[in-house]
Amino acid sequence: MKILCINPPQKINRKFIDYPPFTAYSLWYTAAYLCDCGFEIEVLDAFCQVESTVSECTPDYLSAGIPIASFEKHLSRSNFDVALVHANQYLVQEPDKRSLMNICLSIRSLHPGAKIILADLYTGGMNYIQWDAHGFLSGGSREKPIADYVLLFEAEEQLPELLKDIEGGKTPHQKIITGTAVSKLPELQSNPYAFADMAAFSAFTAEFYKTAGRSDAFDIGADCIPFKTSRGCPFRCSFCSSGSIPRARTAGWREYSTVTLERQLRCIAELKPARRVLLLDESANSNQQHFETFLELLADFRLRLEIPNGLRADLLNFATLKKLKNLISLLSISPECGSQNALDSLVGKKLKLESVERVAATCMGIGLPLAMHFIIGLPGESREELKATFDFARRMHNDYGARPWIQYAVPVPGTALFNRCVREGLLGDKLPADLNPAFQGGPLINNSPDGASPDELAEMLREFYSEPGMRH
Ligand code: SF4
Repeated sequence: MKILCINPPQKINRKFIDYPPFTAYSLWYTAAYLCDCGFEIEVLDAFCQVESTVSECTPDYLSAGIPIASFEKHLSRSNFDVALVHANQYLVQEPDKRSLMNICLSIRSLHPGAKIILADLYTGGMNYIQWDAHGFLSGGSREKPIADYVLLFEAEEQLPELLKDIEGGKTPHQKIITGTAVSKLPELQSNPYAFADMAAFSAFTAEFYKTAGRSDAFDIGADCIPFKTSRGCPFRCSFCSSGSIPRARTAGWREYSTVTLERQLRCIAELKPARRVLLLDESANSNQQHFETFLELLADFRLRLEIPNGLRADLLNFATLKKLKNLISLLSISPECGSQNALDSLVGKKLKLESVERVAATCMGIGLPLAMHFIIGLPGESREELKATFDFARRMHNDYGARPWIQYAVPVPGTALFNRCVREGLLGDKLPADLNPAFQGGPLINNSPDGASPDELAEMLREFYSEPGMRH
């Protein structure tokens, strides 16, 4: 049985959060994993064709990938039994999910005998967005729904089973399957980067950031190759979607073995020209020993590194910071709040702000540029706690040169923060389908009268960034 793994052409909000081109990694990873499981695999990735491009689509959205007509030409040249369509976080947030719908309709019309599985192929490192898949199963006709199966969350345990059922002509019990968070991450044998034209991917990535007009502080660009050393997180911050699915909460933090890391890094090192590793772990330094091993491997392979998700300050010691100085252009850590009380009671990060200041002082001493992630507008945040965050961010900037990166708390469904907002009636009538713009564009949580209203919050942030040197 042959599986075609598809990353469709898609629309991406201009005010995107996270790292849109790099969602492709989950598809390449899954392709490699299925290959290890013995399936015949082909990948059709809209981001990795020589004609892949990015264009203005509407004032709010960019079209990313190749035009659907070109994509259909590629589709028509392929023969396959099952189409595995990666329903990534941008596709499922597109207000009418038109891109996902279109790709399913194209597959149905060009390959009427093929089964269609939509899967979000969660491998961590970016927001996990829960989505309503029922429309894809009930739409179309009874004989030919738009898609045949939907697989939510991590895929390793349920996907091979589902494919074997399809191959054996069995009717799987459920149409919507929620994956189990695997307790042990697989030893990947196949090379995920072999499933994509990496030169085309690099060109696409460069064009994406250029067209989006969003300079990225990490200088994420053409030479960056996505990579993961672990999945999940042992901590439970209220706003974070890392543990928003109960099964992920149970599984916690899981690592790839040193053998797998070495094997995959060798593949990256062999790419020409040499590339930088873009590490997309949720919590890269939760396990200091594992993180150190990874940094040593990088040095062995002479690879450089960027880590856009903030590291935990309390787990960074002097020796690790010195190693990072030789590998990365900018370190980011995530204090989240400037009030220890808010950090403990509203976020639950289990982090002491003293560790943040210690890291800031060390970074200044060794000349490692530093940025800090903060969140404002948390449910229950008092005006004093809010002021403490701005004051702390300002002090870290003035005393240690740390760049302040402040965003609004966003109630991503499934998170403790979302549940609290619902319980306390802090949200408007309905959340927008696409949450991307809310992180930096406009608060959705109304904490007034005890805390700041969305308008007050936006004004405070605007004023903060208008202070000299604060906008980086
Ligand atoms: S430390 Fe907190 S914010 Fe970071 S990944 Fe873990 S739960 Fe999420």
